[in-house]
Amino acid sequence: MSADAAHRTEQPMRVLITGIGDAFSIRSFGTSALIEAPRGQVLLDCPELIHRVLHEATTAAGWRADVSTIDHIIITHLHGDHCNGLEMFGFLRRHLRSADPTLALPKVHAAQSVLDRLWEKLAPSMDAPRDGKPSALRDYFQTHPIEPETESHIAGLSLRCRFTGHPVPTVGLLVSDGESTLGWSGDTPHDPAHIDWLSPADLIAHESGPAPNHTPIEALNALPDSLREKMRLIHLPDDFDPSVTDIRPLKQGEVVAI
Ligand SMILES: [Zn+2]
Repeated sequence: MSADAAHRTEQPMRVLITGIGDAFSIRSFGTSALIEAPRGQVLLDCPELIHRVLHEATTAAGWRADVSTIDHIIITHLHGDHCNGLEMFGFLRRHLRSADPTLALPKVHAAQSVLDRLWEKLAPSMDAPRDGKPSALRDYFQTHPIEPETESHIAGLSLRCRFTGHPVPTVGLLVSDGESTLGWSGDTPHDPAHIDWLSPADLIAHESGPAPNHTPIEALNALPDSLREKMRLIHLPDDFDPSVTDIRPLKQGEVVAI
């Protein structure tokens, strides 16, 4: 919670953690979250089994959210543990829209280099013809580029992004409701400049995993108290030992108020 949060009259930004696992986890869903934004719900990455991911977290938290209520999806990168749920999200939403045309076409927000290759990933299963015409990405999603140079506005939130050194184009995020800011590392090797960029956030959700593509916990343990105290861990391997750090892992189904 930010220093002046106790005095604010509006609601804090609430973030439902929907997954905290890494790509190989058999215990946890892929790292992801659902943000209750001033003007809608924003899904932060879309892992496999997305319907179950949303069901389990919203049931635990008492939230109402599913494919019919989420109009915005931010994709940090195209590794499957972060985006494989788009196929099943897109199919179900298209089906729901054919019955209820008032439902919006959901928006995918991602770096242009990610959007450029998104259909390449989805097309083999999603381009089947309908009414005699092959399906296209625009039949399932609107796309909206987010770029490091430009602040984006999504459902009443402002969003900045920064590319990390992960092996495919990947962004970390700073998401603000104007009062408080969530920092989301995205998948990243240990990168002091990235942590410095995230440091103004009120809460930093930082990944941890083995080098060279992820951030070893030892590197985060060496950060100053002021950073560690507002940091929580995501994208964890199943054998992660929480006793090696004083930085607490986030939990699936947990709601953080920032
Ligand atoms: Zn990744």
